[in-house]
Amino acid sequence: MPDVLVGPERPGPLCRRILYHLMPERLLGKLRVMEPDPGTINSGKCDRRLIPPARKLIQAAWTLFSLYTGWQFYRFYSWALHYTDYTPRPPAVEAFLPIDALMSLKRLIMTGSWDPIHPAGLAFFIAVLAGAFFFRRGFCGWVCPVGLLSDITWKAGQAMKISFTAPAWLRYPLLSIKYILLGFFVWIILFRMDNASISSFMQSPYNITVDARMLEFFLHPSPVSTLAVVALVLLSFTTRHLWCTYLCPYGALLGLIAACSPLHVRRNPGLCLECRKCETACPASIRIWKKQNVRAPECIGCLECLAACPETGCLDTAAAGQTVPCWAMPAGVTAIIIAVWLAALLTGHWHTTLPDNVFRLYYLGFLAG
Ligand code: SF4
Ligand code: SF4
Repeated sequence: MPDVLVGPERPGPLCRRILYHLMPERLLGKLRVMEPDPGTINSGKCDRRLIPPARKLIQAAWTLFSLYTGWQFYRFYSWALHYTDYTPRPPAVEAFLPIDALMSLKRLIMTGSWDPIHPAGLAFFIAVLAGAFFFRRGFCGWVCPVGLLSDITWKAGQAMKISFTAPAWLRYPLLSIKYILLGFFVWIILFRMDNASISSFMQSPYNITVDARMLEFFLHPSPVSTLAVVALVLLSFTTRHLWCTYLCPYGALLGLIAACSPLHVRRNPGLCLECRKCETACPASIRIWKKQNVRAPECIGCLECLAACPETGCLDTAAAGQTVPCWAMPAGVTAIIIAVWLAALLTGHWHTTLPDNVFRLYYLGFLAG
């Protein structure tokens, strides 16, 4: 069988050729010629070799967008404190306020009223919840910057030979931490706060300055928060996806919704070699090779297992028994976020009703007090 060149030598769309150059093997100069593989050289289905570089590119794009949003908010905050020229407040900063959005969602369901203070946060939250149901935790695997940071720290830990995978007996106690945190927030918001107390909280100075408080957390961290962040980062070098798999209550909520999703990774036991390469590649260390359908709440829909599997057709993505193209996961999550953003923007549910000068007054009050 003749060797087949892949990449720019092979006809294909420009994006495919760009991704080819980002493949880790290519960057290391190892990939020149490949055996033909119906699973990788396939015009109609997913090109599995392109999944890791495509994921890195999409994660990097969202991370850059998050950093840009943070920078724009910093400039607005500085304007509010009279330090710089005026910069508009970026509504997307509210995407970092999921607890606030959970309260707003309860109020929306109970009263039909959209959050007027942080409307973009509610829109983003709804998009992410909907994405979790239809496309699993694709938000965690393809969008959230913490996922990219976790990948980087884990790979660095591996290079330094200080990384380890939690033993089975420790895994379930660790997994319970994020559910305990989620249970705490759900109990307070859904069971302890009625509509009146949520509305009152929304109008409170604390809620109006919550974005500034978040920024101050990073600009001027207390000794305790500095210690906590440093410990988390250091432990992320040794424990794979520590925050995403074991600690994040937002991820826990998305995981519970994703467990009901029709879309999932599917294994064909008849083709499986039980080589466990899928488990090694999985950021959540899921034992894919022991399952037929991967519905674990920890699955972040990253598709690294599909890319790692050496047996063509053994792993794919499916819904209701039908094969679904694997690109549907990242494309679906991104499409839902963009669609909800557009809908909120066009219907006047994206920008806050509070004037900038009111934010300025509250920020000054927060810093003074
Ligand atoms: S990588 Fe593929 S062949 Fe190997 S154990 Fe996993 S599913 Fe089976
Ligand atoms: S099971 Fe596959 S898609 Fe899910 S987290 Fe693990 S590697 Fe990613």
